[in-house]
Amino acid sequence: MRGFAMKKIGEVGWVEKEAPACGPLDAICRPLAVAACTSDIHTVYEGAVGERTDMILGHEAVGEIMEVGELVKDFKVGDKVIIPAITPDWGSLEAQRGFAQHSGGTLGGWKFSNFKDGVFAELFHVNEADANLALLPEGMDPAEATMISDMIPTGFHGVELAEVTYGEDVLVVGIGPVGLMAVAGSALRGAGRIFGVGTRPNCVALAKEYGATDIINYKDGPIAEQVMKLTDNKGVDKIIIAGGDVDTISNVIDCIIPGGIISNVNYLGSGEYVKVPREAWGVGMGHVRITGGLMPAGRMRTERLANILSNGRLDVSGMLTHKFEGLESLPEALELMNQKPKELIKPVVTFSYDD
Ligand code: NDP
Ligand code: ZN
Repeated sequence: MRGFAMKKIGEVGWVEKEAPACGPLDAICRPLAVAACTSDIHTVYEGAVGERTDMILGHEAVGEIMEVGELVKDFKVGDKVIIPAITPDWGSLEAQRGFAQHSGGTLGGWKFSNFKDGVFAELFHVNEADANLALLPEGMDPAEATMISDMIPTGFHGVELAEVTYGEDVLVVGIGPVGLMAVAGSALRGAGRIFGVGTRPNCVALAKEYGATDIINYKDGPIAEQVMKLTDNKGVDKIIIAGGDVDTISNVIDCIIPGGIISNVNYLGSGEYVKVPREAWGVGMGHVRITGGLMPAGRMRTERLANILSNGRLDVSGMLTHKFEGLESLPEALELMNQKPKELIKPVVTFSYDD
């Protein structure tokens, strides 16, 4: 089979591989829609998780099941399914501890396009199908449903980690597709004022649609100063970080209230240290919590996220700014993610088959 791969750090290209084998608990799928992700860019061009050779990229997909293992109970050949970016080993001790995304070690549930071939291929393998897959709801557009693989669960996880609740003031740093879902998730959880930080015009427009009350341009000066000005020096209750770099936490901590939470879902692709400024952190006694996490996954979670779309509580159609058809367009879709032209939010590739 063919796949579009990271050949080595800094280089992508096509590879030919054996079709993946199906274990007793697993499924083999072909793609119906896949989306390219900023994480693939960190992995290939920053070498953020280290060297990889001929590893097929992609981890956001909706697919059709071509084969199931003999122990799979709830899925069959021909089912259309949402495949989460993270596919944990559900029997692991980490899963039993409540952190399945780290099964087998830190970030261990992130298999696709990390240490296993991803979904940018004619066929791909899904471990523990019953626990990791979710049926695509009847009538749901596969391209839109790819947002349930990673963008919705990651943005929403930022909201969960920040424990956003009714009436709070929330700062969302970064309004790319992940940050946009953090804005939408904060609004769904009842936030009062929502500050979105970003510049791309499409993202700004969609952030407002999703509930951002204020937009901050990080190029206009320090984010924290702008927030303090807009809030009469009060600051915000919660900060969700979905963009920037290793210095972003230290750049925004000045505008959080004592007892606030900073949650990071940004993939810190380069830099050695995340620094916490002593004074802004209340000289160690400000009760400001700093946390960060990889999206949780699993069938139940994925079905629940699909339920939000099915019931019209969230419309992700505006996120899909660039649409392509067929395997051959994968390089172009990925390169868009690398270049980030200003009209881009998310590129998605759909597939059609004769059989
Ligand atoms: P984008 O690059 O599309 O968006 C990044 C956002 O951050 C943009 O709004 C950008 O603004 C803004 N930004 C850039 N530089 C700064 C800065 N210095 N200060 C403040 N804001 C800045 O990324 P995605 O939304 O696709 O992804 C966001 C991050 O989430 C990535 O690192 C990705 O790898 C990660 N991720 C994490 C996952 C997890 O499970 N934790 C899963 C999936 C992704 P502008 O409008 O100017 O471009
Ligand atoms: Zn992704």
